[in-house]
Amino acid sequence: MAESSTRDSDDDQIYSKIIIIGAGMAGLAAANHFLKNGETDFVLLEARGRIGGRIVAIEMGNEKIELGANWIHGVLGNPIFELAMANGLIDIISVPKPHKVVAAMEDGKQVPFQVLQEIYEAYVCFLRRCEEYFLSAYSPPEGVDSVGAHIALEAHLYLSSLPPEERRRRELLFDCLLKRETCITGCDTMDEVDLLEMGSYAELQGGNISLPQGYSAILEPVARHIPKNCIRTRHIVSCIRWDNADATDGTDSDDSDRTVIRSTAKDWPVEVCCENGKKFFAEKIVCTLPLGVLKEKARELFKPPLPTSKLDAIDRLLFGTVDKIFLEYERPFLNPGISEIMLLWDDRSLPEAEKEDLSKTWFRKIYSFSKVSDTLLLGWISGNAAEYMERLSTKEVAEACTSILRRFLNDPFVPVPKSCVTTSWHSQPFSRGSYTAIAVGAGQMDIETIVEPLHSGDDATNLRVTFAGEHTHSSFYSTVHGAYLTGRRAAQTILDSRKKKKQPLSLSCEETSDLSSWIQGISLD
Ligand SMILES: Cc1cc2nc3c(=O)[nH]c(=O)nc-3n(C[C@H](O)[C@H](O)[C@H](O)COP(=O)(O)OP(=O)(O)OC[C@H]3O[C@@H](n4cnc5c(N)ncnc54)[C@H](O)[C@@H]3O)c2cc1C
Repeated sequence: MAESSTRDSDDDQIYSKIIIIGAGMAGLAAANHFLKNGETDFVLLEARGRIGGRIVAIEMGNEKIELGANWIHGVLGNPIFELAMANGLIDIISVPKPHKVVAAMEDGKQVPFQVLQEIYEAYVCFLRRCEEYFLSAYSPPEGVDSVGAHIALEAHLYLSSLPPEERRRRELLFDCLLKRETCITGCDTMDEVDLLEMGSYAELQGGNISLPQGYSAILEPVARHIPKNCIRTRHIVSCIRWDNADATDGTDSDDSDRTVIRSTAKDWPVEVCCENGKKFFAEKIVCTLPLGVLKEKARELFKPPLPTSKLDAIDRLLFGTVDKIFLEYERPFLNPGISEIMLLWDDRSLPEAEKEDLSKTWFRKIYSFSKVSDTLLLGWISGNAAEYMERLSTKEVAEACTSILRRFLNDPFVPVPKSCVTTSWHSQPFSRGSYTAIAVGAGQMDIETIVEPLHSGDDATNLRVTFAGEHTHSSFYSTVHGAYLTGRRAAQTILDSRKKKKQPLSLSCEETSDLSSWIQGISLD
């Protein structure tokens, strides 16, 4: 394990060359990249009492449940897949269990599988057409600027010639698939997501891979080489002073004869203060604060303030909420042949006043329950309804889920779960949401604006802050592999700025390279 050269001059003032803010995947990847390139003089400041950020698991009964990331999205070119392979975390022999889905309506009647298959195929086709606008020169129909509006238009045309009863079942299926899409994308409704930018998200080939020991098993190899004393957990960053004009820049101190001697705090170019009173002084910062935290705090955190262009880009991008609901049972009760039950809520028939009242409707956003094991079910919920749910007790959520299951399975004997766990990604002060999406009117340009490093004065060589995190990858946003790649990129930008001879970006990764969509696809076999 490498030695850290971080210096504590006294208890409250700590000096190092580099400060990495946030010990999620992006921060950990940046730390590893520094180590691989011989740079050990850094400190990782993490607000929570643990590393991993949005990768986290807890025990529930006999199971380990993943509260955040669950799937490695794609195999080819995915650094997380490579890292998992290199560390024996992927079971290449295991054959995935068949995924059998049923779609049920509120009265418990099930929609025939051929109808589900037909609508799923049509839906995928509509979605692909949305993605095509990104690369093609075609313009969307007049006035249609969101993915939701485009799919609604296509679904309307598709259904218009059908008799009412046939149309209704299919409409409910489209509605359910759109709710599912909000969980994949990270938004309240697909009407929020920019149509022209939908195709900017790059899907890697190979499907969704889950690790037998859970996604969080990836944290061990990622953190293994980082010296323990470099990681300061329970350090909530409250101020980032990134442009001390009086400080001497240490840009060339690494490989020139000139050594920059800094005797006092005021000689250091950057200063990061934490809520616990500790102050960290350094030459450069890698900032991996999540987009949700930047939306809430960027205006007060950075001194001097971030450029307006950056703040506007942070505002324009979407950082939606996606939550999970885990229900643990004493005994299995769902038909062993079924692995997921899709819930076809008929929201269109609700009175207008009720539609707006989340206290009466939040649970209608749960689009399915799937089996994690015979005695563990998982439901997903997004957007405003998820944020509402975060304020309820787990008892209230469990009760709502029980009545949903009884209704859709048409079985009053569905048992009450013995325990329930819900996530609260929006309420978490160090996430403030789940992951990034491109809102109507925003674009990849906004991501690129956020990525632009901060320099001191007009001198582009005086690099002070680089940015990383899933929200800073223009095509792998929202994913772990996106976060990983941006962490390495931000670290390399700092290394480049400090060397006279630029180092080539080391893309070799003993551990790894990148993604796919993390809600398991509906098996149509
Ligand atoms: C429910 C859910 C499911 C997901 N499923 C998948 C999936 O299946 N596959 C996939 O690829 N991705 C998935 N993701 C997304 C993935 O988890 C993230 O994209 C990725 O983990 C983000 O890494 P990051 O380093 O950018 O951010 P984070 O992991 O959020 O790390 C940022 C760190 O900064 C810290 N921090 C925040 N504020 C402060 C502060 N003031 N001071 C100091 N530290 C601070 C945080 O505590 C955190 O540790 C999912 C996310 C969620 C929420």
